[in-house]
Amino acid sequence: MNIHEYQAKMVLRKYGVAVPEGEVAFTPDEAVKVAERFGGRAVVKAQIHAGGRGKAGGVKLAKSLDEVRTYAKELLGKTLVTHQTGPEGKVVRRLLIESLTDIKKEYYVGVVVDRQTGRVVMMASEEGGMEIEEVAAKSPEKIFREVIDPAVGLRPYQARKLAYAIHIPSELINKAAAFMVALYRAFVDNDCSIAEINPLVVTGDGNVLALDAKLNFDDNALFRHKDIVEFRDFEEEDPREVEASKFDLSYIGLQGNIGCMVNGAGLAMATMDTIKYFGGEPANFLDVGGGASEQKVTEAFKIILSDSGVKGILVNIFGGIMKCDVIANAVVAAARQVGIDRPLVVRLEGTNVQLGKEILNKSGLDIVGADSLAEAAQKIVELVK
Ligand code: GDP
Ligand code: MN
Repeated sequence: MNIHEYQAKMVLRKYGVAVPEGEVAFTPDEAVKVAERFGGRAVVKAQIHAGGRGKAGGVKLAKSLDEVRTYAKELLGKTLVTHQTGPEGKVVRRLLIESLTDIKKEYYVGVVVDRQTGRVVMMASEEGGMEIEEVAAKSPEKIFREVIDPAVGLRPYQARKLAYAIHIPSELINKAAAFMVALYRAFVDNDCSIAEINPLVVTGDGNVLALDAKLNFDDNALFRHKDIVEFRDFEEEDPREVEASKFDLSYIGLQGNIGCMVNGAGLAMATMDTIKYFGGEPANFLDVGGGASEQKVTEAFKIILSDSGVKGILVNIFGGIMKCDVIANAVVAAARQVGIDRPLVVRLEGTNVQLGKEILNKSGLDIVGADSLAEAAQKIVELVK
């Protein structure tokens, strides 16, 4: 789960990670009200679940209350297109109004779960502010890493080592190290998957601050972070995924035109691979789960069909715990209820497969059967052409 910058800063503040003073605003009036506290010298920042706002005009520096109002009016309701939003962009509905920071230098600090070491790693670079992906690609030697032992956490000496490596001014090394230790604690305590501060800044008056903050959370741990779940902004999420989550369906929207309904995450991945192998593009990843009820299958169909990009559907079900006849009945009932107006290929395998196929055949619905995954994928790829 992703949250807004202003929310991330609220979380970080609780852990003693230094952030500029500021508050969220939903209207120009609210923006002005917050900026009054800073005498009108404020940063007006678009809050969307995407970075690259600076370059796209989503971060404005205001020198007066009038300017704050002008920028707030300009940004609220605007569709911001950044290199992270995709061409369709994202509509700005909230602003963060922050006191203006006197930046001396911008750095980068990030905390991630590293697959290679299987540990949490803190990364830092003196090339902050710009796209860190570019630094990683062109000058990886400018990114320093400390692998963190989960039993003891980020040690102060590791934090100081990073701070020295990225050339934080020597009188601020301890402040920067304390910042990093606090950031690590916030990361672990909240089951984050990413905590990224870009830029971390050293200010003219000798402070170390998180000027930007991005926190992502492990969905599987959200059950123990009710306060974080409160931050969820449905307007920032793919509506198909929001709908799917209501019915406990694992759904990820993709760009292709073949809707997939599969039980089991591994089978869903294999199905997507096979579709691609035969030249097609999946429109989604969808795992209806082991105990897919008729209702779940119906909801899954609804979500797939509500996507106008879907030109055909491939159902690939393995009847293990679930029997093929139960699935077949669910597919037929769902198809009747929703009314399927696009090609539908169904491949069933496993317990009671013959019974399941009979149910599909007798249903009178326009369903194309297939015996193997390869055959099913080829058929649907052909049908959507
Ligand atoms: P992003 O582009 O979405 O990553 O948004 P950021 O929060 O990182 O802001 C982009 C850039 O705006 C930063 O790298 C800074 O250069 C600039 N910026 C943001 N806040 C301030 C501020 O208070 N003072 C100054 N001078 N620049 C700021
Ligand atoms: Mn940034």
